[in-house]
Amino acid sequence: MLYIADLDTPCVLVDLDVLKANIEEMATLSMQAGKRFRPHVKTHKCIEIATMQHDAGADGITVAKASEAEVFAAAGFSDIFIANLIVGQPKLDHIVRLAETCRLTVGLDSVAVAEPIARAAEARGVVIQALIEVDTGHGRTGVRTVEEAVRIATLLRTYGHVSLQGVYTHEGHAYRASREQLPELCRNVVRNLSAMREAAERAYGEPLLAVSVGSTPSTQAMSTIAEVTELRPGNYVFRDATQVRLGSPVERCALTVLTTVIARPSSTEAVLDAGSKALSGDGDCLCGHGFALGHPEARVDWCSEEHGHLHLGTSNWRPALGQKIRIVPAHACTCVNMHSWLWIVRGDEVLARWPVSARGRLL
Ligand code: PLP
Repeated sequence: MLYIADLDTPCVLVDLDVLKANIEEMATLSMQAGKRFRPHVKTHKCIEIATMQHDAGADGITVAKASEAEVFAAAGFSDIFIANLIVGQPKLDHIVRLAETCRLTVGLDSVAVAEPIARAAEARGVVIQALIEVDTGHGRTGVRTVEEAVRIATLLRTYGHVSLQGVYTHEGHAYRASREQLPELCRNVVRNLSAMREAAERAYGEPLLAVSVGSTPSTQAMSTIAEVTELRPGNYVFRDATQVRLGSPVERCALTVLTTVIARPSSTEAVLDAGSKALSGDGDCLCGHGFALGHPEARVDWCSEEHGHLHLGTSNWRPALGQKIRIVPAHACTCVNMHSWLWIVRGDEVLARWPVSARGRLL
C-alpha cells in the first residue's frame, strides 16, 4: 500500500470520494432540472474523470481546443463541443478531420469565423454543428448585437454542412458577483441569450433549440430557468480556493497540491517547493495562489517558479521544515495543466495514478 506521505513533492492529489460527490451532485442537479449536461473537461483533461462524468449521466463533453477534442474523441467520446472560436487553416483542417470521428460542435461569433468553417466542412463533406456564442457580460468573445447573430444565421442558411443549433455563453462574470446577485445576473444572461436565439431562428428559418450556459458558480441558479436547455460547468469537479471564496465549502475541494516546506525564513513565513510551475500563476485577489488545507488563514501570497511563499501572519500554525502540507490552489484548472499525473487518494492512502492525457493540448 502506498501512502500520501510516501509521495515526492510537488504533486497533485485528488480525493476520490469528494470528486465522485461533486460529479454526482451536478449530474443529479441537471437531470432533475431536465437540462442537457455537457461538462467542460478542460478542468481535468483526464479521460478517467470524463468517464466518471459520462457514467454519472453527462450527455457529451465540452472542450476548449481542437487538440483536446482529439484526445477525448480517440478515447471514444462521441459528442464533443469545442466551446471556442476556430480560426486559421491548421485548426480548420483539424476540426473537419475530427468531425469524421465524432458529433462535433463549434462556437461562432462572426461571419468571418463562420464562413471558413462552412467552406471547410463542405469541401471535406462533413457536417459540423454550431452554436452562436453570445457575450452576456463577461466581455470576452461572443456576439454583442442581435444584428451580428442574424448575419451568422443568414450566412449559414446557404451552407448545408454547418448545422446551427442555437446559442451559448460562458457567463464568467458570475465570478465577480455575490451569491445574492447570482439569480438576477442569470436572469439577465438568459434574457440576452433568448433574444439572440429568437432573432437568429427567424433568420435561419429553422428551429434553433439550444440555449447553453456554463460556469460553476451560476449552475444552481441557471438550472431553475426554463429557457436554459444545457449546463456546461467545468471547475465543479475539483472546486478550488476561488470557489471557496465564493462560498463553496472547503470539504468540497477535491484537488490539492502536496508540497514540502523547504525553508522557514521567519516565524510567520514558510517557503514551499511548489511555485507557479506547480500551483500555476493564476491567483485571486483574496485567496492568493491558494491556502493550506486545514489552515485556510495560511495563504500562498506570492510565487516564483519553483517556490511558494506561505504567509503565516494571521495563523498560529507553525509547519516545520520538511513537513508535507496540502495546498488548495486558487485555480484548479490551470494547476492541472502543469502536471502529468493525478494521484488519486482516499484518506491517507494512494489508490491510483491517472494521466492528465490532454495536458498541454493548446492547439
Ligand atoms: N464554458 C466555457 C466556454 C468556458 O470558457 C468555461 C470556463 O472557462 C466553462 C464553460 C466552465 O466554467 P467553470 O470552469 O467556471 O465551471
